[in-house]
Amino acid sequence: MSTITRKSPDEIEAIARAGRVVAEVLELVRELARPGASTAELDAKAEAHIKAAGATSNFKGYHGFPGVVCLSLDHEVVHGIPGDREIRDGMLVSVDAGAIWDGWHADAARSFYVGSAPEPVARLIAVTAAALDAGIAAARPGATIEEVSGAIEDVASAAGFGIVRPFVGHGIGRAMHESPQVPNYRTGRKSLTLAPGHCLAIEPMLTMGSPEVRVEDDEWTVVTIDGSLAAHFEDSIAVGEGAPRLLTRA
Ligand code: MG
Repeated sequence: MSTITRKSPDEIEAIARAGRVVAEVLELVRELARPGASTAELDAKAEAHIKAAGATSNFKGYHGFPGVVCLSLDHEVVHGIPGDREIRDGMLVSVDAGAIWDGWHADAARSFYVGSAPEPVARLIAVTAAALDAGIAAARPGATIEEVSGAIEDVASAAGFGIVRPFVGHGIGRAMHESPQVPNYRTGRKSLTLAPGHCLAIEPMLTMGSPEVRVEDDEWTVVTIDGSLAAHFEDSIAVGEGAPRLLTRA
Protein backbone atom coordinates (compact mmCIF):
# COMPACT_ATOMS: atom_id res chain seq x y z
CA MET A 1 0.00 0.00 0.00
CA SER A 2 1.32 3.44 -0.89
CA THR A 3 1.69 6.45 1.36
CA ILE A 4 0.19 9.92 1.35
CA THR A 5 1.34 13.13 2.99
CA ARG A 6 -0.92 15.60 4.80
CA LYS A 7 -0.62 19.19 3.69
CA SER A 8 -0.80 22.12 6.11
CA PRO A 9 -3.44 24.87 5.68
CA ASP A 10 -0.75 27.17 4.19
CA GLU A 11 0.31 24.48 1.77
CA ILE A 12 -3.29 23.84 0.71
CA GLU A 13 -3.68 27.60 0.21
CA ALA A 14 -0.71 27.56 -2.18
CA ILE A 15 -2.24 24.64 -4.13
CA ALA A 16 -5.49 26.62 -4.27
CA ARG A 17 -3.58 29.61 -5.71
CA ALA A 18 -2.17 27.33 -8.42
CA GLY A 19 -5.65 25.85 -8.81
CA ARG A 20 -7.25 29.23 -9.41
CA VAL A 21 -4.87 29.79 -12.32
CA VAL A 22 -5.71 26.33 -13.67
CA ALA A 23 -9.46 27.05 -13.45
CA GLU A 24 -8.91 30.31 -15.35
CA VAL A 25 -6.90 28.54 -18.04
CA LEU A 26 -9.60 25.91 -18.54
CA GLU A 27 -12.24 28.63 -18.89
CA LEU A 28 -10.02 30.63 -21.26
CA VAL A 29 -9.39 27.65 -23.53
CA ARG A 30 -13.10 26.88 -23.63
CA GLU A 31 -13.90 30.46 -24.63
CA LEU A 32 -11.23 30.52 -27.34
CA ALA A 33 -11.93 27.04 -28.73
CA ARG A 34 -13.96 28.27 -31.69
CA PRO A 35 -13.92 26.77 -35.18
CA GLY A 36 -10.69 27.75 -36.96
CA ALA A 37 -8.58 28.22 -33.83
CA SER A 38 -5.52 25.97 -33.80
CA THR A 39 -4.66 23.96 -30.72
CA ALA A 40 -1.23 25.68 -30.74
CA GLU A 41 -2.98 29.07 -30.50
CA LEU A 42 -5.00 27.88 -27.51
CA ASP A 43 -1.83 26.61 -25.87
CA ALA A 44 -0.04 29.94 -26.47
CA LYS A 45 -2.93 31.87 -24.86
CA ALA A 46 -2.92 29.47 -21.93
CA GLU A 47 0.84 29.92 -21.50
CA ALA A 48 0.51 33.72 -21.54
CA HIS A 49 -2.23 33.52 -18.91
CA ILE A 50 -0.15 31.30 -16.59
CA LYS A 51 2.80 33.72 -16.89
CA ALA A 52 0.64 36.82 -16.33
CA ALA A 53 -0.80 35.19 -13.21
CA GLY A 54 2.71 34.74 -11.78
CA ALA A 55 2.53 30.95 -11.93
CA THR A 56 4.56 28.45 -13.93
CA SER A 57 3.57 25.44 -16.00
CA ASN A 58 4.04 21.92 -14.71
CA PHE A 59 3.02 20.37 -18.03
CA LYS A 60 5.58 22.05 -20.29
CA GLY A 61 8.73 19.95 -20.34
CA TYR A 62 7.15 17.17 -18.26
CA HIS A 63 8.94 14.14 -19.74
CA GLY A 64 9.43 16.44 -22.73
CA PHE A 65 5.75 17.42 -23.22
CA PRO A 66 5.82 20.53 -25.45
CA GLY A 67 2.64 22.34 -24.30
CA VAL A 68 1.21 23.93 -21.15
CA VAL A 69 -2.11 22.20 -21.85
CA CYS A 70 -3.10 18.84 -23.32
CA LEU A 71 -5.76 19.19 -26.02
CA SER A 72 -7.37 15.86 -26.85
CA LEU A 73 -9.95 15.82 -29.63
CA ASP A 74 -12.86 13.43 -30.22
CA HIS A 75 -11.53 9.85 -29.77
CA GLU A 76 -8.36 11.14 -28.11
CA VAL A 77 -8.66 10.50 -24.38
CA VAL A 78 -5.75 12.41 -22.83
CA HIS A 79 -2.29 13.85 -23.58
CA GLY A 80 -3.08 15.37 -26.99
CA ILE A 81 -0.26 17.66 -28.13
CA PRO A 82 -1.10 21.27 -29.14
CA GLY A 83 -0.17 21.95 -32.76
CA ASP A 84 -1.49 22.86 -36.20
CA ARG A 85 -4.80 21.08 -35.86
CA GLU A 86 -7.82 23.37 -35.89
CA ILE A 87 -10.90 23.23 -33.73
CA ARG A 88 -13.97 22.40 -35.81
CA ASP A 89 -17.67 22.67 -35.19
CA GLY A 90 -18.91 19.34 -33.83
CA MET A 91 -15.68 18.46 -32.02
CA LEU A 92 -15.44 17.01 -28.53
CA VAL A 93 -12.52 18.80 -26.87
CA SER A 94 -10.79 17.71 -23.68
CA VAL A 95 -8.42 20.21 -22.11
CA ASP A 96 -6.10 19.26 -19.26
CA ALA A 97 -4.09 22.01 -17.56
CA GLY A 98 -1.76 22.44 -14.63
CA ALA A 99 0.14 25.17 -12.83
CA ILE A 100 2.67 25.65 -10.04
CA TRP A 101 2.43 28.37 -7.40
CA ASP A 102 5.34 28.78 -5.02
CA GLY A 103 6.36 25.16 -5.61
CA TRP A 104 2.85 23.73 -5.21
CA HIS A 105 1.02 22.00 -8.06
CA ALA A 106 -2.60 21.92 -9.25
CA ASP A 107 -4.07 19.85 -12.10
CA ALA A 108 -7.55 19.79 -13.65
CA ALA A 109 -9.37 18.92 -16.89
CA ARG A 110 -12.70 19.52 -18.64
CA SER A 111 -14.41 18.21 -21.76
CA PHE A 112 -16.78 20.26 -23.87
CA TYR A 113 -18.44 20.14 -27.27
CA VAL A 114 -17.96 22.77 -29.95
CA GLY A 115 -21.48 23.66 -31.03
CA SER A 116 -24.68 21.97 -29.91
CA ALA A 117 -23.87 18.46 -28.70
CA PRO A 118 -25.97 15.51 -29.92
CA GLU A 119 -27.73 13.82 -27.00
CA PRO A 120 -25.34 10.84 -26.62
CA VAL A 121 -22.30 13.14 -26.54
CA ALA A 122 -23.95 15.55 -24.11
CA ARG A 123 -24.68 12.52 -21.93
CA LEU A 124 -21.07 11.28 -22.08
CA ILE A 125 -19.87 14.73 -20.98
CA ALA A 126 -22.49 15.03 -18.23
CA VAL A 127 -21.88 11.53 -16.86
CA THR A 128 -18.10 11.99 -16.79
CA ALA A 129 -18.58 15.24 -14.85
CA ALA A 130 -21.02 13.45 -12.52
CA ALA A 131 -18.53 10.60 -11.99
CA LEU A 132 -15.93 13.16 -10.92
CA ASP A 133 -18.43 14.81 -8.57
CA ALA A 134 -19.29 11.41 -7.06
CA GLY A 135 -15.60 10.68 -6.47
CA ILE A 136 -15.12 14.08 -4.87
CA ALA A 137 -18.18 13.65 -2.65
CA ALA A 138 -16.78 10.31 -1.44
CA ALA A 139 -13.42 11.86 -0.47
CA ARG A 140 -14.28 12.47 3.19
CA PRO A 141 -12.13 11.79 6.23
CA GLY A 142 -12.35 8.13 7.18
CA ALA A 143 -13.22 7.03 3.65
CA THR A 144 -10.79 4.91 1.66
CA ILE A 145 -9.39 5.53 -1.80
CA GLU A 146 -11.26 2.37 -2.80
CA GLU A 147 -14.53 4.09 -1.83
CA VAL A 148 -13.64 7.09 -4.00
CA SER A 149 -12.85 4.71 -6.88
CA GLY A 150 -16.10 2.82 -6.31
CA ALA A 151 -18.19 6.00 -6.36
CA ILE A 152 -16.72 6.90 -9.76
CA GLU A 153 -17.15 3.36 -11.11
CA ASP A 154 -20.81 3.19 -10.05
CA VAL A 155 -21.76 6.38 -11.92
CA ALA A 156 -19.89 5.33 -15.08
CA SER A 157 -21.17 1.75 -15.06
CA ALA A 158 -24.80 2.72 -14.38
CA ALA A 159 -24.66 4.91 -17.50
CA GLY A 160 -23.08 2.15 -19.58
CA PHE A 161 -19.87 4.01 -20.41
CA GLY A 162 -16.39 2.48 -20.54
CA ILE A 163 -13.84 3.32 -17.86
CA VAL A 164 -10.28 3.88 -19.10
CA ARG A 165 -8.11 1.90 -16.69
CA PRO A 166 -4.43 2.50 -17.54
CA PHE A 167 -4.64 6.18 -16.47
CA VAL A 168 -5.71 7.10 -12.96
CA GLY A 169 -5.95 9.97 -10.48
CA HIS A 170 -3.17 10.75 -8.05
CA GLY A 171 -1.98 12.58 -5.00
CA ILE A 172 -0.84 16.15 -5.66
CA GLY A 173 1.32 18.69 -3.85
CA ARG A 174 5.04 19.35 -4.21
CA ALA A 175 4.87 17.23 -7.35
CA MET A 176 2.10 16.95 -9.91
CA HIS A 177 1.92 13.19 -9.46
CA GLU A 178 2.27 12.01 -5.89
CA SER A 179 1.25 8.82 -4.18
CA PRO A 180 -1.36 7.36 -3.96
CA GLN A 181 -2.94 6.38 -7.25
CA VAL A 182 -6.69 7.00 -7.43
CA PRO A 183 -8.16 4.46 -9.89
CA ASN A 184 -11.54 5.12 -11.50
CA TYR A 185 -12.69 1.57 -10.65
CA ARG A 186 -12.56 -0.73 -7.63
CA THR A 187 -9.31 -2.65 -7.43
CA GLY A 188 -10.35 -4.98 -4.61
CA ARG A 189 -7.09 -4.14 -2.87
CA LYS A 190 -6.56 -2.58 0.53
CA SER A 191 -6.28 1.18 0.13
CA LEU A 192 -5.40 4.25 2.16
CA THR A 193 -7.86 5.90 4.52
CA LEU A 194 -8.29 9.62 3.88
CA ALA A 195 -7.73 12.31 6.50
CA PRO A 196 -7.87 16.13 6.48
CA GLY A 197 -4.93 17.59 4.57
CA HIS A 198 -4.74 14.82 1.98
CA CYS A 199 -4.74 16.36 -1.51
CA LEU A 200 -5.83 14.40 -4.55
CA ALA A 201 -6.36 14.92 -8.27
CA ILE A 202 -9.40 12.82 -9.19
CA GLU A 203 -9.85 12.28 -12.92
CA PRO A 204 -12.33 9.88 -14.54
CA MET A 205 -11.91 9.20 -18.28
CA LEU A 206 -14.97 7.61 -19.85
CA THR A 207 -15.61 6.26 -23.35
CA MET A 208 -18.74 5.74 -25.41
CA GLY A 209 -17.53 2.38 -26.68
CA SER A 210 -14.66 0.11 -25.73
CA PRO A 211 -12.56 1.40 -22.82
CA GLU A 212 -9.39 -0.01 -24.44
CA VAL A 213 -6.82 2.62 -25.39
CA ARG A 214 -3.44 2.84 -27.12
CA VAL A 215 -0.75 5.49 -27.44
CA GLU A 216 -0.26 7.08 -30.87
CA ASP A 217 3.08 7.22 -32.71
CA ASP A 218 3.77 10.68 -31.22
CA GLU A 219 4.29 8.72 -27.95
CA TRP A 220 1.81 10.98 -26.11
CA THR A 221 -1.70 11.01 -27.50
CA VAL A 222 -3.89 8.34 -25.92
CA VAL A 223 -6.78 7.25 -28.18
CA THR A 224 -9.61 4.73 -27.94
CA ILE A 225 -8.79 1.68 -30.06
CA ASP A 226 -12.32 1.57 -31.52
CA GLY A 227 -12.36 5.30 -32.31
CA SER A 228 -15.21 5.99 -29.90
CA LEU A 229 -15.49 9.37 -28.21
CA ALA A 230 -13.94 9.94 -24.78
CA ALA A 231 -14.43 12.56 -22.05
CA HIS A 232 -12.16 13.56 -19.16
CA PHE A 233 -12.95 15.62 -16.07
CA GLU A 234 -10.45 16.30 -13.28
CA ASP A 235 -10.20 18.44 -10.18
CA SER A 236 -7.60 18.81 -7.46
CA ILE A 237 -9.15 18.65 -4.00
CA ALA A 238 -8.14 18.82 -0.34
CA VAL A 239 -9.82 16.44 2.08
CA GLY A 240 -11.31 18.47 4.95
CA GLU A 241 -13.38 17.79 8.05
CA GLY A 242 -16.52 17.28 5.96
CA ALA A 243 -16.85 17.82 2.22
CA PRO A 244 -13.51 18.30 0.45
CA ARG A 245 -12.30 21.71 -0.68
CA LEU A 246 -12.30 22.13 -4.46
CA LEU A 247 -8.95 23.63 -5.41
CA THR A 248 -9.41 23.97 -9.18
CA ARG A 249 -12.85 25.50 -9.60
CA ALA A 250 -13.42 29.22 -10.00
MG1 MG B 1 -3.93 14.54 -13.34
